Amino acid sequence: MENLVRGQCLCGAVTFRISGQFERFFLCHCGRCRKDSGSAHSANLFSSTAKIDWVSGQENIRTFNVPGTRHIKCFCAACGSALPSYNSNDDVLVVPAGSVDSQIDILPEAHICYSNRAEWDDNLDTLAKIDGLPK
Ligand SMILES: [Zn+2]
Ligand SMILES: [Zn+2]
Repeated sequence: MENLVRGQCLCGAVTFRISGQFERFFLCHCGRCRKDSGSAHSANLFSSTAKIDWVSGQENIRTFNVPGTRHIKCFCAACGSALPSYNSNDDVLVVPAGSVDSQIDILPEAHICYSNRAEWDDNLDTLAKIDGLPK
């Protein structure tokens, strides 16, 4: 039984299908991932065997490789949403977990590059959990 995962960008132009299994799921707090995501950390799924099919909007895909590094950012030219990328250096498909719409059967396994986290990124699990927007 092949696992099929679907995803799309925020504007909906780019849609994709991934068949196969994810092997790893990391939350990376490094400086590049913080810039790339605009947030505390990236949340990326990794697979060395899964295959991606771009269903629509392939012409919207842009790729930025941080010069001199293996850090690759794929995004939609219309809405800027993070998209899956194939990292040929490491021979691995990297999928931003937030781009995925299907339920996935893997949980994050670790915070990585944790010592590089933002100075405000500590004990965040102690914050109030508000359903919806704050008053
Ligand atoms: Zn888009
Ligand atoms: Zn990182």
